[in-house]
Amino acid sequence: MIRRKIALDADGVLLDFDRHFQRHMEYKLGRKLPVLADSFQLSARYGIDGFWNDLAQDAVFWSGIPLLPDAKNLIYALEDMGFEVWVVTAIGEEQRKSRAISLSGLIPAGRIVCADWTATPQDKANILHDLGTVGFLDDQWEHVLHAGMLPKMLCARYYCCGRYDVGEVPVEVGVVDDVMDFPVALEASMRRWA
Ligand SMILES: [Mg+2]
Repeated sequence: MIRRKIALDADGVLLDFDRHFQRHMEYKLGRKLPVLADSFQLSARYGIDGFWNDLAQDAVFWSGIPLLPDAKNLIYALEDMGFEVWVVTAIGEEQRKSRAISLSGLIPAGRIVCADWTATPQDKANILHDLGTVGFLDDQWEHVLHAGMLPKMLCARYYCCGRYDVGEVPVEVGVVDDVMDFPVALEASMRRWA
């Protein structure tokens, strides 16, 4: 039986990129790195810049990002519903193995799609379309909105509210306040499709 696919974003949905980044940079810079703004952009949030090239090549950094508390519960809940869970993430292919390590074997490397560092919301949406996913959860509503613009995609689209000020979320974007509300919302969508 072919299982229907669900795609999840990694950072901010399954992995605690933010806390890991803050600690990593504090260690590197040798000073505390307070949150300066509730911005989604790292440079604005922490008032630092010029770190990205080094970070992108740092396999130890990417391998070590811890799981968010509900990551396992979310993946198991979706698998229990009969879905095949994929990760679509805007990092370079060279860190795919590191991403699989940080996901602690919950998602095999073959089901992790790296959209590249410079991926636009449209790039991510195209990957979802090619995979034929029926559900997608991301912590950036721009990604969700673009996924929704694709033609003929039967997709329950949800944005997971993070802690940051991300501006007004368009009404087309489905919002869950907690990742564990995603399987519930998905189930409701699937009943409507049936
Ligand atoms: Mg994210």
